[in-house]
Amino acid sequence: MLVVALTGGIGSGKTTACQLFKKLGTPIIDADEIARLLVQPGQPALNEIVKQFGQSILTAEGTLNRAKLRQIIFSDVDNKTWLESILHPRIRQEMARRINELNAPYCIVAIPLLVETNQMEIADRILVIDAPETEQLKRVTLRDNQSQAEIAEIISSQATPTARLAVADDIIHNDGDLERLQQQVESHHQKYLSLGKTV
Ligand code: ATP
Repeated sequence: MLVVALTGGIGSGKTTACQLFKKLGTPIIDADEIARLLVQPGQPALNEIVKQFGQSILTAEGTLNRAKLRQIIFSDVDNKTWLESILHPRIRQEMARRINELNAPYCIVAIPLLVETNQMEIADRILVIDAPETEQLKRVTLRDNQSQAEIAEIISSQATPTARLAVADDIIHNDGDLERLQQQVESHHQKYLSLGKTV
């Protein structure tokens, strides 16, 4: 089976593109969803996080206080490195397990921080969703209740478009309307179906 990693910056259209691939019958494995599942109450990764940062990293309900964790890792790079050492191997293992269970010509593994976390080797091909920064800002402001400045800061903390495009085998240019996005998803789908037959 051909494994296609899909990546792109914030608000580039990754989720929308995945939904379109899914409608065409493509199995999608979502790294963010796996990351969320791994820190649910009772999961070993959450227990390790509590051991490291103390009970105060939990909410009153016993779930992970994500805002607090974000603060802790933004303010100290060692904490970030430690957290990644706990989560990334588990995310990789779970992605590999899910890939192995599939029976399809190809699948898409959505990894927003593929380039930042240097996980390019997980896939046979890398599909980058590329959108102009002005569109990213516009779409995320419309979607979330965040200021342009906050979104711009996230964009600048992520890999540059040049770094992403440097590792891309395929590119979807999400600079137009949804119909244009859909057309590109469909043509990539056809290409991956035929490439999948040869893998
Ligand atoms: P994030 O990195 O924040 O998870 P994302 O890359 O998954 O974002 P989406 O959530 O798919 O991006 O898209 C961001 C917003 O822009 C959504 O509200 C989506 O509906 C909208 N959007 C995406 N592509 C287009 C398009 N071509 N035309 C209009 N709106 C779009």
